[in-house]
Amino acid sequence: MDISKYRSEIQKLITDIQESRGKDSQKTIACCKELEQYGLSHNENELIGFARFSLGETYYLMNDTASFYREMIMCLDPLKEIKEWGYLTMANNMLGIMSLNRGNAPFAMDYYMQAIHYCQEYHLPDLEWVVHMNLGNLYLNIGDPQSAIDNFESGYHYIHTHPDTKNYISTFTAACVGMGKAYLEMDKVDDANEFNHRLLSECMPNLVPMEKLVVYCFEARLYHAMGRKEECESCVKLIRESFNEDVPVLDVFDDFYDYMKMLLQMESYDDFLAIMEQMEKSTHRSGIRNLEKQLLILKLKYYKATKDEESYKSAAVRFFEIDQLMDQENAMMIANTIELRSRLNDLTTITKEVEMENRALQRKSETDALTGIYNRLKLNEYGDVAFQRAMKNQVGFAVEILDIDYFKEYNDNYGHQAGDKCIRFIADCLVSLKSHGGVFVSRYGGDEFVIIYEGYSDTEVFAIAKELKQKIVNTAYEHKFSKVPLKVVTISQGIFWGVPSGEHTIWNYLHSADDMLYKVKVKSRNSILLGHSMIDDSDVLEEDN
Ligand code: GH3
Ligand code: MG
Repeated sequence: MDISKYRSEIQKLITDIQESRGKDSQKTIACCKELEQYGLSHNENELIGFARFSLGETYYLMNDTASFYREMIMCLDPLKEIKEWGYLTMANNMLGIMSLNRGNAPFAMDYYMQAIHYCQEYHLPDLEWVVHMNLGNLYLNIGDPQSAIDNFESGYHYIHTHPDTKNYISTFTAACVGMGKAYLEMDKVDDANEFNHRLLSECMPNLVPMEKLVVYCFEARLYHAMGRKEECESCVKLIRESFNEDVPVLDVFDDFYDYMKMLLQMESYDDFLAIMEQMEKSTHRSGIRNLEKQLLILKLKYYKATKDEESYKSAAVRFFEIDQLMDQENAMMIANTIELRSRLNDLTTITKEVEMENRALQRKSETDALTGIYNRLKLNEYGDVAFQRAMKNQVGFAVEILDIDYFKEYNDNYGHQAGDKCIRFIADCLVSLKSHGGVFVSRYGGDEFVIIYEGYSDTEVFAIAKELKQKIVNTAYEHKFSKVPLKVVTISQGIFWGVPSGEHTIWNYLHSADDMLYKVKVKSRNSILLGHSMIDDSDVLEEDN
């Protein structure tokens, strides 16, 4: 994001957000809200999108599900408007993670697929692998290990070939554990073991204790599946020794969940209960019902295995309660999402309608009602820009004022309506000049028109002006009351040509062109005079009747 184009207070807000995100949630939220307001009042989608995305990210870290969904969904449209595919990918990826955590795999799948689509369409390989890793976890979660492998493999391949990736060892470990777990699900223990070897040789020496725990969980399960009892036991022992209250169990919920399932099978109930206790505490604190439900499934199995009927019954009741609450939560989440999305659609439609109306108004304000060509307002705007451009490119630039000869006589004798028609006839002839690129035509008012020529030499301009004069004469539009001998509608043209320099403005050119027109009117109508910025008036090119 290029922040240099914003006012200094806005630049400061953005840097404050960048610095405080993930560290000071209250400050980030306050800055984001201020930035969003500013963005809304100045119609800056970049600021709105960035503010909402950062808000969503902050609520994600705070575990505030409702606020997270609101902001993340609301940031999608402004980000799309400004084609911020990277942020869009990250937003969809986070929406996927949150949805999966809340037990809504179909929503998660939808968001991840959208993220993958952006990555592939706009070539974002450094984000794509992250989404593939998350998709791998999703497929493991829904019991499709083959698809999990396909996705983990993409992640694994990227990380393996990019050793400069941030947190390389941790992410490489995650990819190996993911692959190993998926093979284990498919009972392909040899393949799983291959990844175990990689973990042991390439990762373990460089991991922090918490990361090692995840590897031990996987190894214990692998050795258990291979019937290598002693090695399994020693992993269980290692976990028992290093497991403590500080382990952020929710970050690695799935790994411990699978491990606890194995402990149940091994009837290692003490180990099972020790981990369960901490898992329950953390899950309770987080308020994530889906995780609580998962733990209850394990507890029900445990009570059944230990024939503790009373506890089994109360856990079963709690299970159904949670199930019901989750159903309600899910229905609400879906309703909210649909509502938010349709509100966004409505807003987008309204914005598009307003934009179209504005464009129509803009066109109307720039157009001359009688002839449909540009009016003086547009001439002012276009003229300035074209003049500056010609000055920058150091190319020829000319302004022509032309005027219908004896138009008053035309009007007085043929009537005002016929006069209007005649003005339209001249306008149509002018429009045909636009086939020459860089030629702009407008009605200046009354029977006067202004033409701007950009990028032409003086002789080229003169030739085009003559072409117009000839076209009008050749049409032989009757004007019996003209004092020009031809007795047809004719025009007089005054032109001023030069290569713009800093000492002039377009208005100097317009005035000079007007002077030329005046001279034509005095000397002989149906003629062209071209004034030149380098040469004095005596060198003016002239065309007589
Ligand atoms: P010259 O040859 O010196 O250009 O003389 P002229 O008669 O063309 O110029 P003059 O400025 O004396 O008259 C212009 C006339 O154009 C006067 C005005 O009534 C008429 N006019 C201005 N705007 C319109 C318009 O929108 N429609 C019609 N029909 N007439 C208009
Ligand atoms: Mg006139």
